[in-house]
Amino acid sequence: MIVGIDLGTTHSLIGVYAEDGSRLFPNALGESLTPSVVSVEGDRVLVGQAARDRLISHPRQTVAAFKRWMGSDRQTRLGERTFRPEELSALVLRSLLADAEAALGEKPTEAVISVPAYFSDAQRKATRAAGELAGVKVERLINEPTAAALAYGLQNREGEGRFLVFDLGGGTFDVSILECFDNVFEVHASAGDNFLGGEDFLELLVEAFCQDQQLRSGALPAAELGQLRRRLELLKRDLTGKQETTLEIALGGREYAWRIDEDRFAKLADPLLQRMRTPIERAMRDAKLQPTQLDEIVLVGGASRMPLISRLVSRMFGRLPLRHINPDHAIALGATVAAGLKTRDAKLEEIILTDVCPYTLGTEVAREDPNGHLQKGFFHPIILRNSTVPLSREDVFCPTHERQEKLTIDVYQGENPLVANNIKLGEITIKIDPRRSAHENSVTVRFTYDINGLLQVEVTADATGERHELVLEQNPGLLSPEEIALRLKALEALKIHPREQQENLAMLARAERMYEEFLHERERLQGWIVQFRSVLDTQDIELIARNREEFGRALDILESQL
Ligand code: ADP
Ligand code: MG
Repeated sequence: MIVGIDLGTTHSLIGVYAEDGSRLFPNALGESLTPSVVSVEGDRVLVGQAARDRLISHPRQTVAAFKRWMGSDRQTRLGERTFRPEELSALVLRSLLADAEAALGEKPTEAVISVPAYFSDAQRKATRAAGELAGVKVERLINEPTAAALAYGLQNREGEGRFLVFDLGGGTFDVSILECFDNVFEVHASAGDNFLGGEDFLELLVEAFCQDQQLRSGALPAAELGQLRRRLELLKRDLTGKQETTLEIALGGREYAWRIDEDRFAKLADPLLQRMRTPIERAMRDAKLQPTQLDEIVLVGGASRMPLISRLVSRMFGRLPLRHINPDHAIALGATVAAGLKTRDAKLEEIILTDVCPYTLGTEVAREDPNGHLQKGFFHPIILRNSTVPLSREDVFCPTHERQEKLTIDVYQGENPLVANNIKLGEITIKIDPRRSAHENSVTVRFTYDINGLLQVEVTADATGERHELVLEQNPGLLSPEEIALRLKALEALKIHPREQQENLAMLARAERMYEEFLHERERLQGWIVQFRSVLDTQDIELIARNREEFGRALDILESQL
């Protein structure tokens, strides 16, 4: 059974494509959205809602939004241990897989995982490594907007034509332009920004609040900052339905009151909205389309719910966007369809899906200037961005000097004519025959982009036939297979709390978070915590369930009063 997974910055989901269509699995709390948050408690790990509450009560043992660091070697310290971003993602995946196992009765062994269309090679490889670290084979990486389009297209069979998918999640912004006809889904262009999402809108509110109250966000203790962010996140969502909203919060023993309206939020957000125009315009240009040639605009991702987003889209395209499918589910549903395509589900047999690569890839070359001098540092594209994948292209290069013994091919990703402004992915050095003249000593460089958006580079010395494949060793964001095997062992030693305890743990984590937040209610909250812990000790399942329900109701009432 191949599962489909949306491994999001903020939330993650898992499901399968079954006979009756796509189906998402609930987590132990009965929700299909699991917060992508990890918290460590001794040698145990908490993932999801309980971990999210622990961002406030245990900020040093808890981390969120680590998808933003995928493809880098950034280490996060949680308690006694440090984790790489792919390890944190693997812990989220393990928790999702346990939910799938609970529903299916068997542990899934293969998965299709969605990634932002604008993820680079290193970020994609890190996602695949996260899958391996969680014990599943990643059968395919599918671009998130493509997945959303699949889900959308299947539910609206009449929805043929060209459409733009606008995906604004917690940490990333992706735009893709697709064409659908006769069950063919063809992506024409993708563009995006890996550092633009709902989190950035939250950050604006944090800064505006602090400025108005003459506070410095950097000077707040971690727990208070966490609490402020949580409350402002609720306020941000509140602004989605209301024109004006208020916040009352105690920080450092002082009470603060704050009021913000739609107009002020829109003003604050204007620079972010301007930044969104660039990828949209670029995708339209690459797809050679005018706004009027688009049939539909589909909004996905939780942050696309903000009214200022539909206003931006309406202004840019002169029409209202569509939101037929729950924007939180669309990508995961599409990932399950892609998984169904992989298992060759008969109902999906006719569907054909093509995608594009997000970046231009090439090498560094020297060029002769008008005076006949060689100038180094120029970018020579081999695969242009938004070419349909899979594809393979080759080019032939000669050494710049006579009697060279070796030739180094530097591989770059980017859109600038100078390599200094692009990103170096790696290099390959190959021996050539110094007795041959430069133009008889050519090498052939072949770039292959596979269906997952992963790159392979091969260099062949034409005279000798010697061949090398690029191993992107210089990239600190990548783990070698040996390192993966080692870390897999280390991660296995960490236990995820059993599913049947998740509801109890989440309830306790919530109460502890509220204890941290509500200074005047601590006595009462502590009493409830003591009581619930003693009920847990009885191991009487029915008694625990009854108490948990009462506990939850009491917390709901308390929270709604504040
Ligand atoms: P990701 O794909 O990154 O996991 P999601 O698609 O789950 O992200 O979207 C999460 C983002 O959506 C968060 O930044 C959250 O603040 C935002 N969001 C969710 N619901 C709302 C809402 N009602 N109003 C405004 N923003 C929202
Ligand atoms: Mg998402």
